[in-house]
Amino acid sequence: MVAICFGALFGLTGCQSGPQNWRDKRPVAHSVQAGNVTIRSNFVIADDAPIIKELEQLQLNITETLQLPPPRDPVMVYLFSGESEYRRYMRKTWPSLPARRAYFIGTSRELAVYSFHGPHVEVDLRHELTHGLLHATLNSVPLWLDEGLAEYFEVRGPTTGNLHPEHLRTLQRAARKNWNPSIARLEGIVNFQEFDRQDYAESWGWVHFLLHDNPDGKRILLDFLSQLKNSDSAGSFQAKLQPFRHQLVAHVSGLKDSTEQSFLRL
Ligand SMILES: [Zn+2]
Repeated sequence: MVAICFGALFGLTGCQSGPQNWRDKRPVAHSVQAGNVTIRSNFVIADDAPIIKELEQLQLNITETLQLPPPRDPVMVYLFSGESEYRRYMRKTWPSLPARRAYFIGTSRELAVYSFHGPHVEVDLRHELTHGLLHATLNSVPLWLDEGLAEYFEVRGPTTGNLHPEHLRTLQRAARKNWNPSIARLEGIVNFQEFDRQDYAESWGWVHFLLHDNPDGKRILLDFLSQLKNSDSAGSFQAKLQPFRHQLVAHVSGLKDSTEQSFLRL
C-alpha cells in the first residue's frame, strides 16, 4: 500500500513540519542517476543495475503514453538499505503520516520519494516515481487521477497497460454486484488517508479504460492532463466521464487476467 502526501509546496496540511536536523538523517552516501531522477542511498547501486534501467524506461513510458513534456522540477529518491531505518526516519520526520512502505512527498524544498530496499522496491518505486513525475510536470493533479495513474504504471511488464490483478479482481467482483462507478465520489476525496482499496481499484479502472478502450477516452485524458500543465485546475472530470460509466463496467468485465507474472521480481 502506498500513498501520496502533499507538503507545504501544495498548501495542504499533514506533513509540512520535519525535525530541525531532518536533512542529516536521509540516505545520501551514494548517488546514481536514472534519467531525470536522482537516487540517493546508503548503499551502492550500480549505474547499470536493473532497477536503474527499469526506472529510465518507466520515465519514457510515462512521458510517451501521457504525451508530457520533460519534467520542469527535479525528482529525488531517497532509498534506505533497510526497512527499520526507513520506518524510523519516517516516524520521526513525518509523525502524522500512517506507516506505508513508500511515500512521495512534495514540499517547498523538493519533490522526493522515500522507500527502502526490499522485496517490493521495484513496484513501490514505479508507483511513487509516477507521482513524482506528474508533480514535476503538471501544476496539479486530482488525487484519484494521481493514484489511478500511479497504479497503472506500477504494473511491471514489457509494455504499458498490463493488468493489475488485485484491482481487476476487485472491480470484476463489484461488477457482478451491480457496481455503479461514480467519478463524482472519487473527485470528492481530497485526503489520501481516506482513499481505500476500492478507490485505488476504481481509479486504476478508469485510467485503464481511458487509455485502452477507445480513442475518445485517451483523447479526453490527454486533453485533461494538457490543461493541468499550466493550470491549477482543469475543472471537474465528472461531466466528461460519467456518461462512460457503463462502458467502464463492460471494459473491466471483459478483461482477462493473464499477467500475474508481471509482479514477479526480475
Ligand atoms: Zn500513490
